[in-house]
Amino acid sequence: MERLGDHDGWTLERLRDAVVPPTRLRTCSGPALHGLLAAAVEDVGPGPFGSQARSPTFLQALEGVLEELAHGSVSAPALEEAAARLGSTGARLGHLARLIDAATTHMDRAGVELAPSRWVTASSVLARGWPAHLLLQQVELTVAPPLSPGMVGFLSALARAASSSGRALAVRVPLTGDAHTDAALEPVLQAFEAGPDLPGVELLPELAEGPLSEPVRRLGVAAPGSLPTDALEAVVAPGPRREAAALVDALRRALDAGASLDRCAFAVLGTPQAAELERALEDAGVPVRRRAPVPLGTTVAGRLGLLWAGLAARRAPAEDLAWLLRQRLLPRIRVDARLDPLPLLRRAGVRDAALGAEGRSNAYQVRLGVFAARSREAGDARDGDAAERLLGAATGLLDLAERIPRRGRLADLLEAWRAGLDAAGFWTALEEEELESDPRARRASAREAAAVEVWRAFVRDARAGWKASRSPGPEMDRAAFARWLIDAAATLPVELAPGAPGGIDVLPLESLDGRPLDFLGVAGVDAASFPRRAPASLLGDEERQAIHGVLGRAAVPALVGSGDARSPLAEAVDRWRLGRALASAGRIAISRRRSAGGAPADVVQRLLGVTGVQERDLSSQPIPTLAEAPGPAWARVRLALEGTVAPDLRSDAADPVAAAALEHLAGTAWLEDARTLAGVEAERLQTAAGLRAPGAYSGRLGPAEDLVAAVNGRLGGSPEGPLSSTSLTALANCPFQGLSRKVLGLEPPEDGAEELDARGRGQFLHEALEQLVKRLLALGLAGADPATLPADLVPQAVQTAAREHARCAPTGHPRLWALAQTRARTTLERLLRSGRLYPFAGLRPAAAEERFGPDLELPAALPGERPVYFRGTLDRVDRGPSGTGVLDYKSSKRRERARAEVLVTDFQLPLYLLALRGRGERPPFQAGWLSLRTLEFLPLDPDRTGPLESFLATDAATRSSTSAPNLATAVHALLAEPRQGLFPVRPRECGFCPLGSVCRISERRAPQGGEG
Ligand code: SF4
Repeated sequence: MERLGDHDGWTLERLRDAVVPPTRLRTCSGPALHGLLAAAVEDVGPGPFGSQARSPTFLQALEGVLEELAHGSVSAPALEEAAARLGSTGARLGHLARLIDAATTHMDRAGVELAPSRWVTASSVLARGWPAHLLLQQVELTVAPPLSPGMVGFLSALARAASSSGRALAVRVPLTGDAHTDAALEPVLQAFEAGPDLPGVELLPELAEGPLSEPVRRLGVAAPGSLPTDALEAVVAPGPRREAAALVDALRRALDAGASLDRCAFAVLGTPQAAELERALEDAGVPVRRRAPVPLGTTVAGRLGLLWAGLAARRAPAEDLAWLLRQRLLPRIRVDARLDPLPLLRRAGVRDAALGAEGRSNAYQVRLGVFAARSREAGDARDGDAAERLLGAATGLLDLAERIPRRGRLADLLEAWRAGLDAAGFWTALEEEELESDPRARRASAREAAAVEVWRAFVRDARAGWKASRSPGPEMDRAAFARWLIDAAATLPVELAPGAPGGIDVLPLESLDGRPLDFLGVAGVDAASFPRRAPASLLGDEERQAIHGVLGRAAVPALVGSGDARSPLAEAVDRWRLGRALASAGRIAISRRRSAGGAPADVVQRLLGVTGVQERDLSSQPIPTLAEAPGPAWARVRLALEGTVAPDLRSDAADPVAAAALEHLAGTAWLEDARTLAGVEAERLQTAAGLRAPGAYSGRLGPAEDLVAAVNGRLGGSPEGPLSSTSLTALANCPFQGLSRKVLGLEPPEDGAEELDARGRGQFLHEALEQLVKRLLALGLAGADPATLPADLVPQAVQTAAREHARCAPTGHPRLWALAQTRARTTLERLLRSGRLYPFAGLRPAAAEERFGPDLELPAALPGERPVYFRGTLDRVDRGPSGTGVLDYKSSKRRERARAEVLVTDFQLPLYLLALRGRGERPPFQAGWLSLRTLEFLPLDPDRTGPLESFLATDAATRSSTSAPNLATAVHALLAEPRQGLFPVRPRECGFCPLGSVCRISERRAPQGGEG
């Protein structure tokens, strides 16, 4: 027995263990107990609980009921009797009784007991009188919720035994004084009040003594605003970061006012709030002593273990596989840090192991293999090597993950999971690493090491449970195993090692130890999240009433308190904890996050009411003022904002303190960087809105002459580097797009989709049509009646085009690719058999894919112009006695749009006509687009071009004398800006820009007033 003095350090638990020293039976809970409970479910069957009865959630709930029954000293036969009394509605309780009976048998056989059973045992010992071995004359102890019926019964028995043996017992009960907030303590108060007078036994209600103790005590009775205080502040924040900043600012002010850091704490209700607070504290340079535990599933080790379990069952999604291959916790399969798997998998079109698999080869093997071969063929050995290395790593990972059997007993599946991770180096990865020198990295490693230990303990306990029950657990498949593991382990707490001594505590509300605090910050307390609801119990209200009826006492109460204060036990406990913490602390800051329809939690709302304290809404101030910035990071954001934002664009009032501080920070590197970045953003937006000429960050190259000359060299337009109509289109749609594509040579990012996108489909159809016309020409069938043409013409053209297309571009899933070819065949057959392939009356195809240039010239005729040379390819030239026609195949051209774009963004047909004239083709000329989508022919509209003579005129006299559209004038005007090195971000349309996914401007626009 413990050698403590009469008054020293007694708690209810220690007294219990002093009365009944621990037996040879092991106390058991969590995963170890679940093995025994699972065996009970196997014995009795799931009954009305269905397949859920085998889930860890059910076993967890069953453990909860077992504990409740142990606390209330309720036996399985009592449950059976209660079930019988319920009649037809008692089937569920009857089955639960059988499960409890079977579980108790398994536990007895395994030599384990539940911790709560010990309360009942200790009570029965005390019922026989004060134990002779307990050498105490006086005992003082403090009790705090949660207090189960078993604990209250033990306390009553202790009081009776102490009194009858002439001993002194003082039980301190920490209260707030408000009946609603103290409801969780009512069972113990009632037990003493309802019992006989016991000489020598004192129940000592203890009220808190903080500045808010009176407002908390009089929550239910004081008039609104009658108890003002400056010890309380409350904020509503627009987001978690801002909320943490406000709380840390409140802490900083409390410290300035004399609070001692080791008497300060933050209480949180969830892990995300704790993480934000810790980040804000770190920024403010405030050390943290104790940290809130985090759920295993939120750590890297936790996520890794859960993903590993489900990888094979979920067909190894590319995102998961890529993430796993980068983890330091898997050192034996990890890829080189320079190889980023996910972008490569995207380019290769890998979605998972199944989509695109062929025969015995999974999709990783098929698609990465094809990608590697295509890269090599295109001369890109680097991509080819990377794809092959990635394939090797992916294969290694999948081999290990596939070791989990497709189906098996739970114990075997868990062992295969453990062994696979072992082969990848998971369990010892951190032990083999060098100690980190950076404190933050060291903390992160310690957290992961703790998470690995939680996994280890989980495996050990689960094995112990199955061993004790002599059962390897239920049989299930891989997917069910992955779900089981998430259910059983994702929320296991990972306790973090203590940090700096003397630092602040960031703890869950339930872990505050009741000591008086100089400052308490409480995060995330609103009506939706507080008080927290307990998980649903397997015992319903009616079933509890039936049990109470059988036993004649409230053995398993679901509610505590009386009258208006009556509420579920877990909620009452939460209320008491918060109320007591608020009443005890010297200074309090409470925060919640703004949400639609959100409101403060009931305790807080009543406290705000009686004190008259108003919540401060920070929604219009997403960045703290300099005076309220809790650390350097926020201070810099505020200063940068103050120093850069245009007055017209402000959403909040100016911060005079920050403005004054800026004067002393002139020349500071980070501030200059911020100013530069803000200037860059403003310049881009203003240029895009046409409010200013392009600058260095919005498309101006130069003005250095050599640079402009180099840009002109790359831009092209000379005989050595002629322009194409595609380059003109890019420059006309957005000069910045033209700069990116033509001058800088940027290519749009490759993305291996399952299906050809609109652009790919258009290209492929275009290629197939080219092949078809070439074949008609080669066979001399261009003038033949369509009805007499051979049947294999179109299939062969599509086949050749498909082969060519696959050589240089991703073709996606084989079946969808085959479908695309079928569609192309159908389209071309319709085109060919309907006669629409020959849109010019009296003309027939004479040439396809005819190149022109580089000597196709638009001469300089007017001041400031320079000659421009072109090259290109005529999709098709048709000839006949009545002239020459030129055709442009378009995959998605709409009639009105096609015509409106001529000489605006579309220069192709005008250049074709110029090329025909340059080649001396027979006039008159005709031109038009053949839509591959609608098979419609859209002739170039003479209403828009005017006479071709003036449209194609290049001489100064004609061009100066006409106001009709003119190709040369349009091209020279278009090139005037780029020739000076100016490529403003000025998009006509971003939707079809191939750079859309990487462009930082895109459709963004300066808001009104952006001139500032
Ligand atoms: S996305 Fe828009 S702004 Fe950006 S380059 Fe393309 S067209 Fe210009």
